[in-house]
Amino acid sequence: MSGTETEPMIVQEPSYRGGRRGKRITVAACALAVIGGLAGLLFGIQDPETKGRANAAVGLGAGDSPRLLMSQRERDIDAFVERVFARMVEDGVADLDRQAALTGEALAGRRMDTVIRPGDTLARALSSAGADNGIVHQAVTALGKLTDLRRLKPGQELTLMFDHATDKLTEVRLQESVERVVYARATPDGGFLGEEERLTFERQLVRARGTIEDSLFLAGQRAGVEHEVLAELIRMFSFDVDFQRGIHPGDGFELTYERFVNRAGEVMKTGNILKATLVRKGSPLTYFRYQPEGEPGPDYFDARGQSARKTLMQTPIDGARISSGFGKRRHPILGYTKMHKGTDFAARAGTPIMAAGDGTIARIGWNGGYGRYIQIRHNGTYSTAYAHMKGFRSGLKNGSRVKQGQIIGYVGTSGRSTGPHLHYEVLKNGSQVNPRSIKLPTGVKLAGARLDAFQAFRAELDAEIAALPFLDQEVAEMDAGRVRTAAAAD
Ligand SMILES: [Zn+2]
Repeated sequence: MSGTETEPMIVQEPSYRGGRRGKRITVAACALAVIGGLAGLLFGIQDPETKGRANAAVGLGAGDSPRLLMSQRERDIDAFVERVFARMVEDGVADLDRQAALTGEALAGRRMDTVIRPGDTLARALSSAGADNGIVHQAVTALGKLTDLRRLKPGQELTLMFDHATDKLTEVRLQESVERVVYARATPDGGFLGEEERLTFERQLVRARGTIEDSLFLAGQRAGVEHEVLAELIRMFSFDVDFQRGIHPGDGFELTYERFVNRAGEVMKTGNILKATLVRKGSPLTYFRYQPEGEPGPDYFDARGQSARKTLMQTPIDGARISSGFGKRRHPILGYTKMHKGTDFAARAGTPIMAAGDGTIARIGWNGGYGRYIQIRHNGTYSTAYAHMKGFRSGLKNGSRVKQGQIIGYVGTSGRSTGPHLHYEVLKNGSQVNPRSIKLPTGVKLAGARLDAFQAFRAELDAEIAALPFLDQEVAEMDAGRVRTAAAAD
């Protein structure tokens, strides 16, 4: 069911009237992972050519870019989390290494740097590094008192020290998180003793801005904003903005977010976005991170106290373009005019498809002309359907619960279809509706005393932000040539 383009498409204006309580945006790592995939949306504003160029530019860019491309290819969202985590660990280890080098600790004996491999236990990792069984048992027991060894993650860094004379294992150092390292060190009586080291980082607020020439992602990258932060920025606005059609050259952004730096001033990790503005065709949309009294966690709210989160995302797919909108069109195979009761997203076969909202799988399997098909029930009124898939995410079945943004399957051309694309439907009480025509329930709307408290919080945060320099001003001092975004968004 892929065809020629019809309508400009799906710019769902945010609704401020809905009253239903949505679930909060939770766990940052999860959100980041989802967005790692979503980031692909931002390559290319309008057409496939732009997209090609943007991808090429990223592919050839310095530094972090290959990781980003991997995240697009990588079909497993969990693996993306692992990579983000592994990088944090790497950075943390690098820092420790520098400290160790300074104190000369790294010079005693043979040193081996390794990582936890998929399926590895700590004992297995130590054994395969050449430690004998008795020593492995002692070291593992000592470390197990300090950290939950069942929660080791592939990619987690492990540093082993061996005695320079006997080549016996004398120390195991495990980077548990970016802030915590646990050790087991050999004692003179032949045992092992566990120790921990905590690193503390200074929290800084960073303010950045940019003008979008090609994509929000590239503009953000030029402004010096980390990929993880841009990913979260995209997720924040993904409820309101269709990133294929809703962003135009000349649009701009501004955001303030947290960075955590070590004593050497290096960024060890990024934190939350506290405030972000996206300016589209001159009209700004701003969200503030805030936890209202009585809510289980923080969420993003606009200046009127309406939460950003919506029941359904605008675009349930990464790196696609709309090839056919909802409405009448000439059927590409049969030739006559008929109603198209969904939205088609052209994308390469294998591109991940995300659940547009939290819900339960109501149907999964082959469904005639729809080919491989999933229907998700979001609430008593709305469902969404995904057709022509190449395959489903393993483990999904009728009744499985899915989270918004979770990968449910991959683009294909199964059933009656002329080429790889996602046919996506929004169903209201069982009938297909134009996604543009529906007013979706939204999250929390603050009122009364809770709105007053939010407004006071907002005023304070704004005053704090006003005193911050922009990141591009700092970047400009270091490298004037790289900054193309200085004249930005306000
Ligand atoms: Zn279709």
